[in-house]
Amino acid sequence: MTARKRPTNGQWQAIIHNEGCADGTFFYAVLTTGIFCKPSCVSRQPRKQNVVVFPNPNAALQAGFRPCKRCQPLDTKTAFDQPIQASQRFMQKHYAQPLTVAQVAAAVHLNTSYFEHRFRKQTGQSVMRYLLDVRMAHSRDLVSEAELSIQTIARRVGFQSGNYFGRVFKAYFGVTPSNWQQQGKWGEQKWMEN
Ligand SMILES: [Zn+2]
Repeated sequence: MTARKRPTNGQWQAIIHNEGCADGTFFYAVLTTGIFCKPSCVSRQPRKQNVVVFPNPNAALQAGFRPCKRCQPLDTKTAFDQPIQASQRFMQKHYAQPLTVAQVAAAVHLNTSYFEHRFRKQTGQSVMRYLLDVRMAHSRDLVSEAELSIQTIARRVGFQSGNYFGRVFKAYFGVTPSNWQQQGKWGEQKWMEN
């Protein structure tokens, strides 16, 4: 039996302002009606002391709440989570191209600033930071395993300039790509201490 979770201040603000961008990040149920909703639901504002929150619709169902007919919280998976996951798949596939946030947003049919906002809300990091993590993971593999020039590796992970790639790599791992190649395991160790 898990304790009932009360909304945080941020969640409560999202509920009373019907914030669509909070949809998919949590669900709220009203103890007095037995119904659960998405934050954006425009149904009558509940009293705060009657509100409990859940991380997903299944948790609310398991606790015995019924989905609201108005906001249909069970549709959230398709309506809200999917574009962000699709954008992550898109970046994992196209990281070798010099992508912009606008291009990624367009790929999942969302307005750029809305997409950026929602990506951060749902994943806790920015779009470009996510893309950097993907690129650096691939760079690490390429630098460690292959005898490739820095310029070639840079291009394979979406950087136009080898110099710029080298600076980003050093800022990320604390060692330059060429030092990493020369020093092999030592470089890896240095990265892990960071
Ligand atoms: Zn509702």
